[in-house]
Amino acid sequence: MGKIKILIFLIIMVYGANIYCQSDQKKNQTKISEDLFYAKIQDSVYMFTHYFPWGSNGMFILLPDKQGLLINTPCEITGTDSLLNWIEKSFGPLKITAIITGFHQDNLGGDEVLLSKNIPVYGPDLTVKLVKEKSAELKKIIMNSVSSDENKRYYNSYKVLHLMPPNKTFPIKKGLELKFGDEVFEVYFPGESHTIDNTVVYLHKRKILFGGCMIKGLEYNNPGFTGYANMTEWPVSVEKVINRFQDCRIVVPGHGKEGGKQLLPHMIKVLNEWNKEHNSL
Ligand SMILES: [Zn+2]
Repeated sequence: MGKIKILIFLIIMVYGANIYCQSDQKKNQTKISEDLFYAKIQDSVYMFTHYFPWGSNGMFILLPDKQGLLINTPCEITGTDSLLNWIEKSFGPLKITAIITGFHQDNLGGDEVLLSKNIPVYGPDLTVKLVKEKSAELKKIIMNSVSSDENKRYYNSYKVLHLMPPNKTFPIKKGLELKFGDEVFEVYFPGESHTIDNTVVYLHKRKILFGGCMIKGLEYNNPGFTGYANMTEWPVSVEKVINRFQDCRIVVPGHGKEGGKQLLPHMIKVLNEWNKEHNSL
């Protein structure tokens, strides 16, 4: 099998399980549009999930002085339009800033919309490089995995998707601190994991960690799509996240339900089991 075929096979396997978990997750969420749902995590803090068709989480934080922070976008432009409309309808017009945590479509698939509205999009230098080098290949994998008739809607939307890099960059190893009033949002790169550029975002004041694609919900017992992953470094990177944000109380994973800090050791256990199984083959 060629590399692309193997990647497509993996993505179909993994996301089959993901779709199975979705109806359960949706139960506690409020509908924004057919594919987009949200849950309130804390005062002014929202987790949104874009089921397109796989469930992917991002966050929106309402900030003082009519500002808002978006962490990741829905997977493509229609979902991102729905999210921005919901934000405006719910909170009025806001000055929005965005952070994206990796080069996959479930991190930055809506960048095109944000950039067209002059919303600054923060992301690491390495993500810019990966969008340039890998987005054609990634798009092919995504389109192939939604090529059946019942997925036509997703296929058509991904077909016209342009994955665009962030426009406010920083060296990945240095990370980033964004300050809004007295609140600090820290973008941290612990090392390679689900991709070589995935970062996490820590909301210091609220003790909430957005784990992005590096972390999955407790209902997952597999690491998900590993086509671009560094499987040996991934558990080491999660360990570094645990050590850095020891006062963390809530973890929002990239996929699956939010929970407490036990999501982090759970992820390490899942990764160690996966590695054990695959290294002994
Ligand atoms: Zn992901």
